[in-house]
Amino acid sequence: MENKVQLFNTLTRRVEAFVPNEEGKVGMYTCGPTVYHFAHIGNLRSYLMEDVLEKMLRYVGYQVTRVMNITDVGHLSSDADTGEDKMLKGAKREHKTVMEIAKFYTDAFFADCAKLNIKTPDVVEPATSCIPEFIQMIEVLLEKGYAYQAGENIYFDTSRLKDYYVFGSQAEEELLVGVREDVEEDANKRNKSDFVLWFTKSKFEDQELKWDSPWGTGYPGWHIECSCISMKHLGEYMDIHCGGVDNIFPHHTNEIAQSEAYTGHKWCNYWFHVHHLNDRSGKMSKSKGEFLTVSLLQEKGYDPMVYRMFCLQSHYRKPLEFSYEVLDQTAGAYQKLRKRIVALKAEGEVEREAFARYRERFEAAICNDLNTATALTVLYDVLKDDITDATKRALTESFDEVLSLDLLKELEEDGMAVDPELEQLILAKIEERTAAKKAKDFARADAIRAELADRGVVIRDTREGVVWELKK
Ligand code: AMP
Ligand code: ZN
Repeated sequence: MENKVQLFNTLTRRVEAFVPNEEGKVGMYTCGPTVYHFAHIGNLRSYLMEDVLEKMLRYVGYQVTRVMNITDVGHLSSDADTGEDKMLKGAKREHKTVMEIAKFYTDAFFADCAKLNIKTPDVVEPATSCIPEFIQMIEVLLEKGYAYQAGENIYFDTSRLKDYYVFGSQAEEELLVGVREDVEEDANKRNKSDFVLWFTKSKFEDQELKWDSPWGTGYPGWHIECSCISMKHLGEYMDIHCGGVDNIFPHHTNEIAQSEAYTGHKWCNYWFHVHHLNDRSGKMSKSKGEFLTVSLLQEKGYDPMVYRMFCLQSHYRKPLEFSYEVLDQTAGAYQKLRKRIVALKAEGEVEREAFARYRERFEAAICNDLNTATALTVLYDVLKDDITDATKRALTESFDEVLSLDLLKELEEDGMAVDPELEQLILAKIEERTAAKKAKDFARADAIRAELADRGVVIRDTREGVVWELKK
């Protein structure tokens, strides 16, 4: 198979030709959600771009096996083996058990993914179902001298590695900052960068989930789960490991440390990291009180596909700022695009040469380190070109295997098709509102907006004019 895929690899800090371990096959691992709360649309940006990566690999012919863990135990809120246990925090907040919280938010996560057309990975494994595997790996690390017991916990000894900071010195600086801010420094650690593999002495006396181990009753650290779960399903050699950029350190650094100490060889060749979605005040996070979810966007009248298109318009390796202005423009563009595609007639022949030419252009864009914005431009070029409608439809269908924007779905299914009489009325009202605004009669303009809202019609002012949508 031709190696046409080029990807930025965080490990080597450059764009490289992607060559899997086994020809034609790809083993891909994604760090899954910590299921203590709803996913915000920032988290979902990461999963969405990883979904595009997976679909791009399948599109060019690879057989992909994608594995994802569900963190339902062990993830501490500071990411540095300190702070509160995230699952326990969620359980306390909602007066439920940890397992109830895990079940509820795992289901909510996959429901959000389904709304955004994010395919469920081939294997999804919760951390709590792999405790024997974690214990076995920790035992080997102890035997090999990469781990030690102190203060009733088991730690990974980072000083045993030649190069612990595999992703560069930035991580080292971050750790130092973290340590400075860390008021509860763990006195059991031999080195500042050491991390817990297994806790038996927890700060949290009320820790709900505990298991027997050779070192006493306790629970695993966060990082061990990804090493074990990925190896359980993909073996000791992996092609691509994904996550958001905040996972680079310490999580992925620690995964590499323990996996390579355990196997004695290089573990994963390519590291794919998605940059953050920020709001105006900075990184989107769950600790900031109200946070943006897909359901909230839906309540405001946005089709989840609009958020998918919003993400596809920019490159995964650039931070993305969320704004309703840009989302509104995207909503307008998405609606226009869908209407244009639906108007294509089901007649004429597919022109082979044009199909091949455009498919090649589309592939070149997505294979070029996932240039989704250019891939969308290729779609627009197809629709503009003087080729048969059948060719346009065939290409749209093909591109949508990767874009997954429901481009060929009938408008009726999405509530986009409207009774012509209602449509006439809406357009007349919009015109009346525009005139009212021009005459600075804002009270009238607001009244018209409210009147339309009562009929379930959401209107938005965008650069492309006023767009409207029926609320779902
Ligand atoms: P968590 O559920 O907190 O473990 O996070 C799930 C995924 O979302 C991880 O891959 C994180 O790296 C990623 N992530 C967290 N915050 C953001 C954000 N603001 N933008 C994009 N991805 C994020
Ligand atoms: Zn992970």
